[in-house]
Amino acid sequence: THFGYKQVDKQEKVNLVADVFHSVAAKYDMMNDLMSMGVHRLWKRFTIDCSGVRSGQRVLDLAGGTGDLTAKFSRLVGESGKVVLADINGSMLKVGRDKLRDMGIVGNVETVQANAECLPFPDNYFDIVTIAFGLRNVTDKDAALASIFRVLKPGGRLLVLEFSKPENEQFGKLYDWYSFNILPAMGKMVANDADSYQYLAESIRMHPDQETLKGMMHGAGFEQVTYHNLTGGIVALHRGFKF
Ligand code: SAM
Repeated sequence: THFGYKQVDKQEKVNLVADVFHSVAAKYDMMNDLMSMGVHRLWKRFTIDCSGVRSGQRVLDLAGGTGDLTAKFSRLVGESGKVVLADINGSMLKVGRDKLRDMGIVGNVETVQANAECLPFPDNYFDIVTIAFGLRNVTDKDAALASIFRVLKPGGRLLVLEFSKPENEQFGKLYDWYSFNILPAMGKMVANDADSYQYLAESIRMHPDQETLKGMMHGAGFEQVTYHNLTGGIVALHRGFKF
């Protein structure tokens, strides 16, 4: 498979990720519900609960895709606050923008096409940055973490919601089997796109585990970094502060 991306170079990964999200954009929300059996909604709810968001704050929903977190934050920051939905992929952003408009969410939300590795925002600008199921798709993760650190205000926090490593070995094996067999099969059946969901499984397996990501966040300057395993460690929510 051409998705054996351990061997592919940086530009190839960038192109691959772009192709995947252009191709899944239209069915992204439906597939998320299907493949996680709806549980991604709980993971996102937990992320919002841990964000400590308050009225009037500026939030960056990075790699925000179709804007699930943006929609929730928009209600919580109110009219005096602001949420920026940023994503590198125009197709995902378009689905997100249309969805938010249909939900009547317009006033305090802005969409920006941007690469997490070099964010087009001023220093010390956001109170909160979230990146949900985004970091594993970024080619240079350390550059992205440094860029996020720069745009956060002192006292601001980063929340990384991402697939991680299941705590229990047996459960991990079952989950691996699900990822590499059921997910691509579902992708083929429902979206006629097995390759994109094969990429999903591979990108999940390759992503740094809980402790490694924690170390990377420290490396970028974040302090008081902690994480919380969700659904047995299939997913983890990492949180760190800029002081
Ligand atoms: N945050 C949304 C959610 O949780 O439903 C979308 C997650 S989706 C799995 C991953 C998103 O990351 C895609 O929309 C993709 O375009 C975006 N992405 C990948 N690489 C990126 C980068 N370097 N900078 C910004 N966004 C990126």
